[in-house]
Amino acid sequence: MTHELPPLPYEYDALEPHLDAKTVEIHHDKHHQTYTDKFNAALKGHPELQEKSPEELLKNLDQVPENIRGAVQNHGGGYLNHKLFWETMGSDGGGEPEGELKSAIDKSFENFASFKEKYTQAAATHFASGWAWLSTDSEGNLKIHTTKNQDSPLSEGLTPLLPLDVWEHAYYIKFQNRRPEFIESWWKVVSWHEVEKKFAER
Ligand code: MN
Repeated sequence: MTHELPPLPYEYDALEPHLDAKTVEIHHDKHHQTYTDKFNAALKGHPELQEKSPEELLKNLDQVPENIRGAVQNHGGGYLNHKLFWETMGSDGGGEPEGELKSAIDKSFENFASFKEKYTQAAATHFASGWAWLSTDSEGNLKIHTTKNQDSPLSEGLTPLLPLDVWEHAYYIKFQNRRPEFIESWWKVVSWHEVEKKFAER
């Protein structure tokens, strides 16, 4: 069994004018495809690992044979992180979360504005390639953090809720080196009902 590139859940231009169609197309069709291909290449000849979900592999990297562990961490992480990234954006995005997630954000960060500021700061200051996250533990305690490269919060025992890709390939065509502008635009396409759903399923 091999993993397939998850189809983009909307058209390339669905996130315009905030995120441009060209970036979405290349990011999904080229970058995400490459992570998917290399993830499959790493698992080739390991049918027992091919049977496992990417989530299961990333939660238990120590159980992956050492000679392919780095490749699974990088490309399995790239496969899954991008899947979450596409899922948590949409043309109906922006605004603020509601319900249980809103309560949890208020509890952990005082209010949405303060949460947004802290997350933005983490994403803007992460050095080099990586991701910013809102993640949760199984008890619903929220955490803003970053990971390097394509490392997954699952490998730290956390469930990822809201990812932001801060690799340059995520924004360079439209924003060049202006990562803070990219982050401001991204908030306008965050699909909070998807994030609420992931929080409920934790
Ligand atoms: Mn990316």
